Formats: sequence, structure tokens, C-alpha cells
Amino acid sequence: MPFKVRINWDLCIADGVCYALCPQVYEAGPDGKPQIVKEYRGSQPFEGTIPDELKDCADQGRIACPVGAISIE
Ligand code: SF4
Repeated sequence: MPFKVRINWDLCIADGVCYALCPQVYEAGPDGKPQIVKEYRGSQPFEGTIPDELKDCADQGRIACPVGAISIE
């Protein structure tokens, strides 16, 4: 089943760790904060729906985020 990923921009310190680890899901947005890549993006750039095969990749970014700004459900 596809799952949802959300990035909390209020917490994010724009260090780029998530998109360095998983560019298939996360990319740098205009101000350096990450957004979900266009293919999987939802109605807002900070959230999206990701296919199963990218869950491990997205999870790596979530786990490595130093401020816990990424949630996956
Ligand atoms: S790893 Fe976390 S703090 Fe770093 S850019 Fe991604 S969401 Fe922001």
C-alpha cells in the first residue's frame, strides 16, 4: 500500500540530509528546505504519497533527520 510522507518545515533546519540520502523521494525546494519530488507530491510541496518500493528510502531520510521533521504513515 502506498504511504504518506510529510515534512514539517517549522522543524526543518535545511541541512539537506534527507535529499542527500533519498533523492527519489526528497528534493531541495526553493529555500533549501526539502519537498517531495514532483511525481509523488500532494497538494502541498511538503507532503506526498510514496509507493511501497520507496518506503525504505524515505525511511532512511526520516531516521537520519536530526530534528525529527519527517513523518511517515
Ligand atoms: S533531514 Fe530533516 S532537517 Fe534536514 S533537510 Fe531534511 S527535513 Fe530538514
